[in-house]
Amino acid sequence: MSTEHPTGTAAPTDPLDLAGIGIGPFNLSLAALAQPLTGLRTAFYDQRPAFHWHPGLLIDGATLQVPFLADLVTLADPTNPWSFLSYLRSRDRLYPFYFAERFHIHRAEYDAYCRWVSENLPALHFGHQIDAVRWNSSHAVFEIDSTHLDADGEAEALGRSYARNLVLGIGTAPHVPEALRPLAETPAAPVLHSSDYLDHRERLLAADHVTVVGAGQSGAEIFLDLLRARPEGRERLHWLARTPAFAPMEYSKLGLEHFTPDYTRYFHALAEPVRDALVPGQWQLYKGIDHDTLAAVHDELYRRTLHGGWPDAVLTPGVRVEAADRAPGGGVTLHLAHAEQHTRTRLTTDAVVLATGYRERRLDTLLAALDPYLCRDDAGRPRVDAEHRLVLDPAVTGSVHVQNAERHSHGVGTPDLGLAAWRSATILNSLTGTTPYPLPDRTAFTTFGLPHPTAPAAATAPHAAPAQQG
Ligand SMILES: Cc1cc2nc3c(=O)[nH]c(=O)nc-3n(C[C@H](O)[C@H](O)[C@H](O)COP(=O)(O)OP(=O)(O)OC[C@H]3O[C@@H](n4cnc5c(N)ncnc54)[C@H](O)[C@@H]3O)c2cc1C
Repeated sequence: MSTEHPTGTAAPTDPLDLAGIGIGPFNLSLAALAQPLTGLRTAFYDQRPAFHWHPGLLIDGATLQVPFLADLVTLADPTNPWSFLSYLRSRDRLYPFYFAERFHIHRAEYDAYCRWVSENLPALHFGHQIDAVRWNSSHAVFEIDSTHLDADGEAEALGRSYARNLVLGIGTAPHVPEALRPLAETPAAPVLHSSDYLDHRERLLAADHVTVVGAGQSGAEIFLDLLRARPEGRERLHWLARTPAFAPMEYSKLGLEHFTPDYTRYFHALAEPVRDALVPGQWQLYKGIDHDTLAAVHDELYRRTLHGGWPDAVLTPGVRVEAADRAPGGGVTLHLAHAEQHTRTRLTTDAVVLATGYRERRLDTLLAALDPYLCRDDAGRPRVDAEHRLVLDPAVTGSVHVQNAERHSHGVGTPDLGLAAWRSATILNSLTGTTPYPLPDRTAFTTFGLPHPTAPAAATAPHAAPAQQG
């Protein structure tokens, strides 16, 4: 395996201005808004061979949960060439979209739009896994070590590049509850995470009985897709959820103002314990099921009663899967506990789909060499300032911004596509020290917080000196 310097820069004396790690929607938005800034030399890296947005969940008919204006650029700069409407024009599909009157586009269309941007934007490098970053104080640059992967993901070369600033957009990874991990990691066991649903759909449809665990949007979409595909009267489906109900996502217009820059600023200025107490209680803002999907599930269940009888589909909330093991005959036995009844039972099923969500990918692995410079909050999480920049020891003169790794400091809007363009613009304004993207002072009708809070929270002090290490 040869060591060569990847695309970008060959020496610390000729660094990039900005290197982006991860090319999901958030760093793609940043790359699209950075492109017109000709003075800014950028490069973005992703370990995957090409852009694909949640390919395992591009279920037919599934739509985005946000309006199409939440594309990569429009809410910061509607004139930017990488907007969703520009994509439609490039495909001669503006009139069909105009008459479609679709505010929430198909997930598959959003994926295609982002891929169009990723295939046409310069400075994007797929097949580059970033292994580590470190601070090179003598040249005041970050060193970025990478492994070049071929189309099958095999390593073919090592590389290093240099940049004055970094942005981490490494996204989220599927979460599998501890109790189910051993089975989920056993290839033969029919236990899979919802993120791989479409790869296993045929196998699931052939299974005699299927259990879906989790009452978020993915769980609902998968249950609905399986229900629609199963023969009437022989559905043989269970849908289990820990939540007390199969609850709707908060989608009221004032409720949605929690996904605005105003709320993000308000949340960031709160004291750490207050922030930590707030997020779990806001679960219906980011964990519920959209109304249309819930209605479609009920419609399909109702339709299946038209000829008499009830569908063989069991929907039970308030249930926790405590353990799981292989059942004789190849299925899985789930050990269930009911939160309110305080009862336990076992369910034997032939396949399990874990719609158990995602967790922010840990930054620590990538940032291990930067750990001495990282300022952490009381819970040991990296401190992130109002401009989405990690709070680092002043010895590090470069900046490291994060995207979708800061729910603890910026709140429920962190993974929301509706804040992508605004956050990217905030980062570019802070990086350039100018304001290429003027942003609105006000974005919500709700006034979050009182006009002049008496004691500002300490957490926001940027570049605070780190506590003595060791
Ligand atoms: C099924 C699904 C549907 C969603 N729908 C919506 C929606 O409708 N509306 C909404 O607002 N939000 C939605 N979200 C939430 C959120 O917008 C998405 O999760 C979004 O993909 C997050 O984008 P991202 O850029 O942070 O990360 P990701 O899309 O997770 O991309 C991160 C990228 O980083 C790369 N990467 C990671 N580590 C490295 C490394 N070391 N080196 C190189 N590359 C690396 C990965 O390969 C990946 O490509 C949805 C989430 C899911 C799972």
